[in-house]
Amino acid sequence: MSSVLYQKVVKSFGALNVLRSLDLAVPDHKFLALLGPSGCGKTTALRILAGLDMPSAGKVFIGERDVTRLQPRDRDIAMVFQSYALYPQMTVAENIGYPLWIRGTPDAGRKAKIGEVAAILEIGHLLDRRPRQLSGGQRQRVALARAIVRDPAAFLMDEPLSNLDARLRLTMRGEIKRLCQRLSATTIYVTHDQVEALTMADFVAVMHGGELQQMAPPIEIYDRPANRFVATFVGNPPMNILPAALSEKGVIVAGKVVPLDAARLAACRAASVAEIGLRPEDCSAAAADTPDALQGEIYVVEPMGNETLVNVRLEGGNVSVRAGREFRGVVGESIGVAFDPANACFFN
Ligand code: ATP
Repeated sequence: MSSVLYQKVVKSFGALNVLRSLDLAVPDHKFLALLGPSGCGKTTALRILAGLDMPSAGKVFIGERDVTRLQPRDRDIAMVFQSYALYPQMTVAENIGYPLWIRGTPDAGRKAKIGEVAAILEIGHLLDRRPRQLSGGQRQRVALARAIVRDPAAFLMDEPLSNLDARLRLTMRGEIKRLCQRLSATTIYVTHDQVEALTMADFVAVMHGGELQQMAPPIEIYDRPANRFVATFVGNPPMNILPAALSEKGVIVAGKVVPLDAARLAACRAASVAEIGLRPEDCSAAAADTPDALQGEIYVVEPMGNETLVNVRLEGGNVSVRAGREFRGVVGESIGVAFDPANACFFN
């Protein structure tokens, strides 16, 4: 397996700048999720690495090799597509073995390897079937088997779960994660689904408008988002954002002064902070007259079974609060929203 490097990669289609100057390094053996909204350039970045598109400027490396000008077949990568891209006229065994056949692997070696990867993906009993005789989940396994059969330097996956139903997607999410850990494979996985990115990856690269916003381990992306875009794109319900003004002792939010320690206050001043970000789970529902809590009115109550999502109208905007399953407040009631400022994010 090998590391992957994008060096100042630019891609334009006519006047449309899809990648603006992408610098991204994926360490050896690591699983990177490329996450971002539709149209932000994720697939384009993956296709450039695969050799299916040429960059307008910049270079891509796999390991030590500059592969920018190489044909896809010479890059030693395997790609798994959203559509699976299986050959309909071939059996499962022939589909899996195809990359080895192209490479000229003798029959016996090919058969052994097909059996080995089919066992890993638990599709040994399907080898004689054709793709049309398989379920969506089984097709996905065949596509994965075909990718791993030739031990490539890197795996590229483009939304491989998006054609599966919600339950199967959950199962395959775990399966792909286990598979990549078992193979210790350098993997780049494109998704617009933040749950997939956070649960599967060693690193998440968040993109927006053709630019990398932040690359970090999932927990860091969640806890210390680099900017407002990352803060609001990752998390469900998203981070609450409220206007914030700095005062002598702290920050004024929803008409209340929230005290900050001197170091935090100085950092906020230096950064010209204008907004505060609070995760719904870092806010708690408090009695209406609780001294340090923000004061508001219950706007919507959504019981989720294991918890209750409460939307509260405050001066300056609404916020979501994750309350316990025992929450019994009703719409229109006054309520306090308490939080620990140590958990808050600040944006300018
Ligand atoms: P999605 O999640 O919807 O697949 P994405 O982040 O993968 O989105 P890309 O497929 O990389 O986005 O596309 C980025 C932008 O580039 C889009 O505006 C798209 O329309 C445009 N684009 C992609 N390929 C081409 C092409 N061959 N010619 C012209 N424009 C293109």
